[in-house]
Parts: sequence; C-alpha cells; structure tokens
Amino acid sequence: MIDPNDIDGCVQYALMIVRQAALLARRIQAEMISPALSKTDRSPVTVADFAIQALVARRLMEAFPADPLVAEEDSSALKDSPLLEQVTAFVSSLEPAGWSVPAATRQSVCEWIDRGRTDVGEDRAGGAGASQGLAPTAPTRYWLLDPIDGTKGFLRGGQYAVALALMMDGRAQIGVLGCPELNLGAGCGWSSPEEPAPTGCLVYAVRGQGTWMTSLEKTHEGGSEGRSGTRPYKYPCTRLHVSRRGKPAQARLLRSFEAGHTNVEQIEQFAAALGIQAEPVLMDSQVKYAVLAAGQGDLILRLLSPEKPDYREKAWDQAAGSLVVEEAGGRATDLEGKPFDFSLGRELIHNRGVLVSNGRLHQAALQALKAIGA
Ligand code: AMP
Ligand code: MG
Repeated sequence: MIDPNDIDGCVQYALMIVRQAALLARRIQAEMISPALSKTDRSPVTVADFAIQALVARRLMEAFPADPLVAEEDSSALKDSPLLEQVTAFVSSLEPAGWSVPAATRQSVCEWIDRGRTDVGEDRAGGAGASQGLAPTAPTRYWLLDPIDGTKGFLRGGQYAVALALMMDGRAQIGVLGCPELNLGAGCGWSSPEEPAPTGCLVYAVRGQGTWMTSLEKTHEGGSEGRSGTRPYKYPCTRLHVSRRGKPAQARLLRSFEAGHTNVEQIEQFAAALGIQAEPVLMDSQVKYAVLAAGQGDLILRLLSPEKPDYREKAWDQAAGSLVVEEAGGRATDLEGKPFDFSLGRELIHNRGVLVSNGRLHQAALQALKAIGA
C-alpha cells in the first residue's frame, strides 16, 4: 500500500502503471489483430481497452484500496465474448510474482474492469444516483482512466494514449499520458548525440510542479532529472513548456483525425478568421495535448460535430491532458473560455467543446470562435 497523502509516491506509482499499460497496448497491437466490439454508442472497443482497464484497476486496488476508480469501459460487452479469454491471458501474463491477491480469472478480470463504474458527481444526490440507492455524497478523491484514448487511432496504426488522472476536490492533481507512438524528439531536450530519440513517451504533470516527459522504455544517461518535491524520479525527465508563439496567423493548429469528432467546415472558418495558412495537423487522442505542451503545436480545437450537436466531453478525455497543458504554461477551456467542471460526473455537462492553447493565443482564438458562431 502507498500512503495516499504522499503525492510523490502517487506520482511514482501512476507512472509505473501507465508505463506498464502503454507497453501492454503496444504488445497487444503487435501480437494480434482481433476485431473490435461495438459499444451501444457504436464506438469500437478492443482487447487492449479491456486488458488495460483491468490491469490499471487491479494495480490501483493494490496500492490505494480506498480510492474509487472512474473509467471509460465496463464488462457488459465483454462477458459473453470470446475476447474475454484473450483479455484474461494478457492480464495474467503481467501478474507480479509474490502477490498474495487472487490471480486473473475471467470473473476477476470483469470485476476489476467494473471497478471503473463508480458514480461521481453532484447529480448522484438528487438525480439518477438517488433512485439507484447510492449514497448522496460523491467521492472527493478518485482516479480517472481512459485505458485507450483514441481507440480508432489504435486500430488504424495512428496515435493513441493511456490517460490516467488523480482527481481531488474536482480537479486533476496528477495527469499521466502514456503515448506509445509519440516521438517528441530533440524538440524537447533529448540530448544524446549518438542515439536518435526513441518513439514512445510518458508525459505527466503534477499540479504546481510542472509538466515533464520521459521515455516509455529506454533510460538515457543525459537529460535532467525530473523532480516532484525533493525526490528525483527513477527515469531521466525533461521539463516541457508550451510555445511562445503570439501571432495567430502563424499558429499551428491540431485537430481530431476523425472528422466525425469535430466540425471540419467550422475549423476552416476558424483558421480563415485568424489568417492561419498552414493546414491543421490531424491527430487522435490526448496525444495532441502532449504535443502542444512540448511547444510543437499552438492550438487544439474540438468543435461539435453537426451530427452530434449535443455531444458533451467525457471527463477521461480531458482531465490528464488539460493538466499536462496547464502545467506547461498553456490553457484548456471550453469554447466559451469556461474552465472544465469535473465535479458533475462522467461527462462535462456544463461545458461545450474544447479550446486548448499556449495561453498567449487563447483570447484571439475565443474571439474567432465567437465571430464564426462556433
Ligand atoms: P480525438 O481523437 O481527439 O477525437 O479523441 C478521441 C475521443 O473522442 C474518444 O476517446 C471519444 O471519447 C471521443 N469521441 C467519440 N465520439 C465523439 C464525437 N462525436 N465528438 C467528439 N468526441 C468524440
Ligand atoms: Mg477517449
């Protein structure tokens, strides 16, 4: 067990889990091409989503037995599927030796996944929560997980991330993005003259202590030591900062790879309003937030798709990424400039869309959004 008040200890443990989870995602991708299942909202879910959620839930239970977990997946689509056998095999391949806890079985894997069904948010007091007999007080501290953010990117061979945040009193205190396909390269301080920067990194932030990047698997003798409080991390880390770009016309704009997750036509109008010439960079998942935190992009837009004008962001799609951006000096708000309200449950029901920036460009971007009626 880890003392939950030891934020340093929590950071170390979160990094260890996300590292293991991101490497597992990579291994699953290399070892198998199994068909994705469709959830009730018709979005795809894979062996990797389930295996990582089970693994992370299991590991969090071990270290922080009192902490609830809120996570994207549940086991309902998995229970009667042949995928369950494969998920169980991947999870049990990572059982640490000497643990006294029960081994992974088909049943325990489903139970671990379903730990992520914790209900949070004020809505549980008077709304659906009360009618389901849930206690009126929401937990003030919990972990928030997207096991594979960007499942479509994962299936396509594009970008994806394992996103984990520690939430306290409605705000992320720790945010970790495991990005197996991201190479931030020399742009963020990789300093070995002999070796090229490896692909795959962890980007993480601790409230009040900045945003840092470390390699997913390779340790490297150069680089400065990342610090949280007084304790250096086991792996060499580089501090990340957003860009200093202040001219809107020169902004490098990032958006979802999936056109259906945004409004492509309106993004064109937005770029024209700011005089941006360069084409937007298309990228899946919160990897975009890591790229912006490293100063390699200046603006991210998530506009509402015309097919889903009432879409509300999921908490696990924003919590870790927005802390990563803010601690690197940037801003993350909704399309009206309001901060995200994570206190309301699994969806950000009081926020519409997302604008992320290096901070300097935020006001101009908000004005452009207003001008085009987005
Ligand atoms: P991105 O690659 O930035 O679009 O982010 C991927 C995330 O978009 C997924 O994890 C989904 O939760 C989320 N998503 C799914 N459908 C939509 C939609 N219609 N509009 C916005 N986001 C969506
Ligand atoms: Mg996601």
